[in-house]
Amino acid sequence: MRVTRLYDSKSPVLSMEFFPPRNEKAEAGFGTIVDELFEMDPDYMSVTFGAGGSNRDGSYQAVKTMMDKSIPTVAYLAGYGMAPEEIIEVLDRYRDMGIKTIFVIRGDQPQQEGFAPHPDSFSYASDLIAFIKKRYDFTLGCAGYPEGHQEAESLEKDIEYLKAKVDNGAEYVVAQTFYDNRFYFDYVERCRFAGVTVPIIPGIMPVYSVKMARILAKVCGSTITPELEALMTEVDPDDKQAVLSMGMDFATDQCRGLLNGGAPGLHLYTMDRSSPTVEVVRRLRSENFFRETKVPTAR
Ligand SMILES: Cc1cc2nc3c(=O)[nH]c(=O)nc-3n(C[C@H](O)[C@H](O)[C@H](O)COP(=O)(O)OP(=O)(O)OC[C@H]3O[C@@H](n4cnc5c(N)ncnc54)[C@H](O)[C@@H]3O)c2cc1C
Repeated sequence: MRVTRLYDSKSPVLSMEFFPPRNEKAEAGFGTIVDELFEMDPDYMSVTFGAGGSNRDGSYQAVKTMMDKSIPTVAYLAGYGMAPEEIIEVLDRYRDMGIKTIFVIRGDQPQQEGFAPHPDSFSYASDLIAFIKKRYDFTLGCAGYPEGHQEAESLEKDIEYLKAKVDNGAEYVVAQTFYDNRFYFDYVERCRFAGVTVPIIPGIMPVYSVKMARILAKVCGSTITPELEALMTEVDPDDKQAVLSMGMDFATDQCRGLLNGGAPGLHLYTMDRSSPTVEVVRRLRSENFFRETKVPTAR
């Protein structure tokens, strides 16, 4: 499945992201979670990749689980530190599994002690994309950062580098999670001004736990807005149901705002949990947000 064909033919496109299960228990439940979410009729699902190739077998297995269920699947490649030959090995494997779309990210230095990047590894995703584009017929996607990537000198520079990824072959962008839709709409406007014309898809991560949300916001460089801060302070962090309910309400509101504002799709970071994503999508569907429309006007 080539993701760009979806973005070219319908709006909004619904996608869901998973990471490969991290232990045997998670592995045992992974197929069920995928099934529960696939029942919500997403247009495609995607599987992340451990930078440096860590847990690549887990990614292959998760991709295979989805492909065996005939789910339209996107595989990720985070090439940090990997030798070009290793990258080729991974891509050959995905090609042989029938994957047509690869989401290409650079990744970061893995936490693994003693990990040393291969001397011929790629410093930036734009170089990785150029390398892949020359050798394969995959449709490629890349990451964008509405609040700017943490290492970037400025948002302007970061968008300049995003344009390099697109110029080198990326055909769609999935945005890092954010909690204020103004970051996304402002980013799209700046990208268009900079000449980035491909679809830019907002990434939404419901709050699953207050502690985890704070950690992830730091890792992802996503600002916790005063509104969300107030909600996270008010809720009892140990009352799992209350936290989930608050997170689902907040995420649903965000999604409504994004779709009403013309976003070409929603990419939901599931964190390999089914119930919050199921509930957010169920609510949006009951409000007719996923009634199919023709090619988007605002991409
Ligand atoms: C939707 C999404 C999915 C992700 N999935 C994964 C995953 O599966 N596995 C994983 O490990 N990580 C994943 N990440 C995280 C990602 O790997 C990190 O954010 C990483 O730090 C940057 O990756 P990138 O591809 O955006 O890098 P790049 O686009 O290379 O950018 C990295 C930094 O370098 C700067 N830069 C780019 N080009 C240049 C240049 N030519 N000169 C100087 N500076 C430059 C950029 O401004 C930025 O600050 C994901 C992120 C997103 C948004």
